[in-house]
Amino acid sequence: MKIISIIWRALFITILFSSVVQNTMAFDSTAIVRQGLADLRLQKSWEKPLALKGNWAFAWKKLLNPNEAKGFTTYTEFPKLWNDNIVDGIPLTVQGYATYGLTILLPPRHGSLALFLPDVYSSYKLFVNGNLLEANGKPDSIPRNYKPHWEPKIVVLPINADTLQLVFQVANFSHSKGGPNLNIQIGNSEYLLLEKDRNIASDFLLAGCLFMGGLFFFGLYRFGSKDKATLYFSLFCMVYSYRMIGSSLYSLHAILPDLNWELTTRLEYITLFGSIFLFIQYVRNLYPEDFYKPLLTVLSFICLSLVALTLVTPATIFTQTINPFLLLMFFCIGYIMYVFIKAYLNRRIAAQYALISIAVLMIVQLIINLEYFGIIIPSRLILFAGYVSFFFLQSLILSFRFAYTLQMARKQAEQGLLAKSEFLSTMSHEIRTPLNSVIGMSNLLLRNRPREDQREQLDVLQFSAQNLLSIVNDILDYNKIEAGKIQLENIDMDIVAILKNIVTGAANIADAKGIGVRLEIDNNFKNMVTGDPTRFAQVINNLVGNAIKFTKEGEVLIDLQLKQKLGNKVTLLFTIKDTGIGIAKEKQHLVFDRFTQADSSTSRSYGGTGLGLAICKKILVLQGSQLMLESEVGMGSSFYFTQTFEVSDKPLIKNNLYEKVSAVLDKPLSGVNILLVEDNRINVLVAKTFLESWGACIDVAENGQEAINLLDLNRHQLVLMDLHMPVMDGFTAIKKIREDGITIPIIALTASLPAEIESLVTGLAINDFVLKPFVPDELYKKVFFYTIAFKKDLNLVH
Ligand code: ADP
Repeated sequence: MKIISIIWRALFITILFSSVVQNTMAFDSTAIVRQGLADLRLQKSWEKPLALKGNWAFAWKKLLNPNEAKGFTTYTEFPKLWNDNIVDGIPLTVQGYATYGLTILLPPRHGSLALFLPDVYSSYKLFVNGNLLEANGKPDSIPRNYKPHWEPKIVVLPINADTLQLVFQVANFSHSKGGPNLNIQIGNSEYLLLEKDRNIASDFLLAGCLFMGGLFFFGLYRFGSKDKATLYFSLFCMVYSYRMIGSSLYSLHAILPDLNWELTTRLEYITLFGSIFLFIQYVRNLYPEDFYKPLLTVLSFICLSLVALTLVTPATIFTQTINPFLLLMFFCIGYIMYVFIKAYLNRRIAAQYALISIAVLMIVQLIINLEYFGIIIPSRLILFAGYVSFFFLQSLILSFRFAYTLQMARKQAEQGLLAKSEFLSTMSHEIRTPLNSVIGMSNLLLRNRPREDQREQLDVLQFSAQNLLSIVNDILDYNKIEAGKIQLENIDMDIVAILKNIVTGAANIADAKGIGVRLEIDNNFKNMVTGDPTRFAQVINNLVGNAIKFTKEGEVLIDLQLKQKLGNKVTLLFTIKDTGIGIAKEKQHLVFDRFTQADSSTSRSYGGTGLGLAICKKILVLQGSQLMLESEVGMGSSFYFTQTFEVSDKPLIKNNLYEKVSAVLDKPLSGVNILLVEDNRINVLVAKTFLESWGACIDVAENGQEAINLLDLNRHQLVLMDLHMPVMDGFTAIKKIREDGITIPIIALTASLPAEIESLVTGLAINDFVLKPFVPDELYKKVFFYTIAFKKDLNLVH
């Protein structure tokens, strides 16, 4: 990969350089004018324009008309700035006026020719064979009547003339440079006109792209990253976009020729100083550790002072700053290159692109400056490619940076989530272990025939402890679901049996409140289906629990209707309807949000955390279903959802076997020997008391190692194994037992939540698990199943 990228870069730079060399010499620049005469009669090809360079006739401080050819008194080099020109021993002044003269001799058949006239400091008029063919501003000997203007022009020459008399009047009273600086060229008119159009088009295209790019990055900064580097780069793009059309070839002036010269020149200078200022800020924010800060202060100060100077002084003054500033600019580019090399060595983000981009920028700036000093006239294509590559690479740096920041933020968020989830699971374990004891002990106390007043107090104690447990469970559960960590089961389930169980459980609470609970099942539905029974029961339990909680009188109806039967799929509609307090229309969409209750007084009057419905909704959404609500204040609420299940081919299981057995036998677990592995003495006490009350015989081991030592296959029919213990934990012990080929049923005891259990016990060859704090009934059912029902192979099927 590395080699490929190095080759790619080398190729890129080679192509760039070779095209620079090829394209910069876009015209022939050998001096062809001697003593005011260019003899081109032998010229055959006009494909490549010729620079009309050499000794032109000259008259200083005279604006000669075409008929005053005798007014030329001497010759001078053309093009040459008046600033450094001495004619006949007299140095020329920057401000002044002069006329240049040239005779061109052409071959008889030369086709259509044209002159390329670059901008001159700072106004001119061109007469050819006595006619005024072109002007830029208005040259005049009196400053008041003089008007500067800059715009490169193409002048088509008279077609049949074989001799051309050029009279070129130039005046400057506004700039710190005076006279011609760039070559006038002669060439094929079609070629020159096309070239001009192309240049204007490419300048505007670049300016538009840059401005849009700048806006895009500004939007990114404003609405997203808030990264200062992005901000400075966006401003740099926007400011620099003006320079694409307002400097060099002045394409803007071709479109708006009446723009005020002072204004556009000011803008040209301000955007130059400003863009360098912005670019320095950008680089400093991009790689702050690699940038020498005091230098930033000095450079910024210089740039901003120059901006201020440009704003307040006339052009004759502020334009003097350009040459020293160009030196400073090259220093800046050099220093930025040094910063990028440092950044690259320090392995900063996207520094390799920064390096290439600055190399490209250097080349572009070099070309522009060579052009500025009249050394070359570069092809616009090369500048275009250079600019596009530079801005493309800079954008790449910022995109990398943006993507990197996002990645980091995501990583941090994920770590935060992980930490939160770990914290919550630890907290859950910590809270649930003592809660286990509280619930277990209150269960035990309630069995020991307490006095009536004690029973009431114990009921309150047990209710509160259960409530606390369900709150902890809800928070953990919601967290798991939100982190996308629950995996839904797809096993056989008996929906009717689950509903009946829930109704039986709920009936006790409803009875106590004096309300009825009714279950209605569609007669046409008699199947086992496949799904996640735990999650299904959780949803119904929650909805029924709420219905009872928020109803003072009347009844709660749980209704199951078969909506559709198609192939082996059934669509069922579940409705939980109550005659309770109802929910106001405007609150109805809120109650499904986490920690939201319809009324702020709800938690005070009814308890709850506002998580139940959020959990139900999420569980149903995971199964492709939607929880709906219809409700009216004071009239009651109706929560409903439809869910499609696959019909299972298994017949319905008799799940009330244990009840029958329990009904006949006083001590249903008589003769069952169980090895209980548990380090918490209170848990041991609770489990032991219950199991012994059902007739089972219990041996206790305090850790995994002790369990392995104590396990006696002739005596024990079941192992109840805690998972977290000192010396040797349950995981290791179970693994060791199974490695020895022992198949005795093992039920894990765990305080973890259902959502976590799957990941906990995968790979552990356990038969089942019981959640702590155990509900006595559940513990009994499971122990019964794996000892009596399992061993005696009772007929469990209808
Ligand atoms: P919690 O019951 O723990 O407050 P839920 O998410 O289960 O949280 O319910 C959110 C809110 O929706 C409740 O606080 C209550 O205001 C409203 N609500 C839920 N079910 C009913 C219902 N059957 N009747 C009236 N209001 C209800």
